[in-house]
Amino acid sequence: MGGDIDFTTFQNVIGGKLSSTAQTRHGINPATGEPNAEVPVSTPADVDDAVQAGKAAFKLWSKTSFDERRQTLLKFAGALEAHGEDFIKLLVKEQGKAVPFATVEFQSALDTIRNTTSLGLKEEIIEDSDDKQVIVRYTPLGLAVGIVPWNFPFMLAIMKIAPAVLTGNTIIIKPSPFTPYCGLKVVEVAQKVFPPGVIQALSGDDSLGPWLTAHPGPAKISFTGSSATGKKVMESASKTLKRVTLELGGNDPAIVCADVNIESVAQQIAMMAFFNSGQVCIAIKRIYVHESIYEKFRETISRITASFVVGEGNEEGVFVGPIQNSMQYERVKGFFADIEKEKWTVATGGTTDIRKSGYFVQPTIIDAPPAESRIVAEEPFGPIVPLIPWNDEAAVVEAANNTKMGLGSSVWSNDLAQARRIGDQIEAGMVWINTHQDVAPAAPFGGHKESGIGYEGGVGGLKSFCNAQTLCIKKNKL
Ligand code: NAD
Repeated sequence: MGGDIDFTTFQNVIGGKLSSTAQTRHGINPATGEPNAEVPVSTPADVDDAVQAGKAAFKLWSKTSFDERRQTLLKFAGALEAHGEDFIKLLVKEQGKAVPFATVEFQSALDTIRNTTSLGLKEEIIEDSDDKQVIVRYTPLGLAVGIVPWNFPFMLAIMKIAPAVLTGNTIIIKPSPFTPYCGLKVVEVAQKVFPPGVIQALSGDDSLGPWLTAHPGPAKISFTGSSATGKKVMESASKTLKRVTLELGGNDPAIVCADVNIESVAQQIAMMAFFNSGQVCIAIKRIYVHESIYEKFRETISRITASFVVGEGNEEGVFVGPIQNSMQYERVKGFFADIEKEKWTVATGGTTDIRKSGYFVQPTIIDAPPAESRIVAEEPFGPIVPLIPWNDEAAVVEAANNTKMGLGSSVWSNDLAQARRIGDQIEAGMVWINTHQDVAPAAPFGGHKESGIGYEGGVGGLKSFCNAQTLCIKKNKL
């Protein structure tokens, strides 16, 4: 392997073949504003073709053994690995993140494939008496559609492909129009090891997602994106009772108790608030700090945040890249505009338009904004976070839960009993103690409340691509 995949041209993958479209479009390199390569704009006919090929492939793929599928996925990880350098370069160019973080995304995605193959999904014997045996089987659903956002275009495509095909489903990947490149190439590489039609990719404009969710062919939509779009996906999928898994937005609180090492905790929290320029579903988006250490903590986290290098992803030492696209840039700038309008106090940062080209903003901390302000209540999905003092445990739990979101959360304390007491009351899919974004591959990853429906990860994640079937065998002679 090696140079046999061309990383400069991009096509759909339908029924095992590369396929172009009459109309094309392109993404923008967010660090330079320059256009990236042209990609297909799929039509309803392309959707029909991919659905037909995916359903046909399902007939054979669903009959293969779990072990065969596991082996094929491991070969897939190897095939991707052979193109590591190309994928990392492409990810920097299309998404904006810095090389070390693109490398981490690439490696974590390969780990995800390998970890997923180590999971098993066995029949469960519920009852085995003289009289009868009751078995629960998990059978694949059919053709799935994986709809992917623009913040982790490589990783999130893989997180859908691996559990879908391991359980015997086929899948069409639809990348975000802002970041279509890695998704298309991942699927192109998959053609080396998977039969035609098992893994396909369609790129397009804003019409493509709704066409796929409304199409009667697919059996399942695995969606990662905003809560607003998730609701539309569920509404559209409901017409044909497609199964849905929705991984949606978050507004993760971090609750810092009085007894922590300020330097170390401020360092970790700053990293997890500003990593990927804050464009992480499980980024820390609200920082609640005990009032007894508030001033010292503010000073420390502001100093650390001000030291983060902002820049283009190939530049040395960059931690904060650009906002990924112009739409999101305008939204994030709206929060910066509120600084003056709402008379917020800035602990560090506060400016936008810091470079001549590209969608850059300065990592920013807002000092003690009112609880009802937009920066606390909404998910900015950019490098701007509120720092809020607290003094009463019950009140800080209530404040942390005072959101429609419920994705991640964290409590920071040397008193693990206190941390558990607080953590147990948080309404969120992931509660971390003295860490954040620490995703355990075999555990559920998903949101409570409007952060999602269902979850990915672990055996439960595999089951979400399956129907449960109860098989009841009466043993008596007829
Ligand atoms: P988005 O909802 O705008 O888009 C996500 C995907 O859905 C894109 O591929 C888009 O083209 C497609 N889409 C848009 N409208 C559609 C429709 N009507 N029907 C079907 N598909 C449609 O989200 P985004 O801005 O790309 O991503 C940012 C959001 O994603 C944030 O809210 C973030 O928190 C969330 N997110 C969640 C997770 C998680 O695992 N919970 C992970 C990453 C990002």
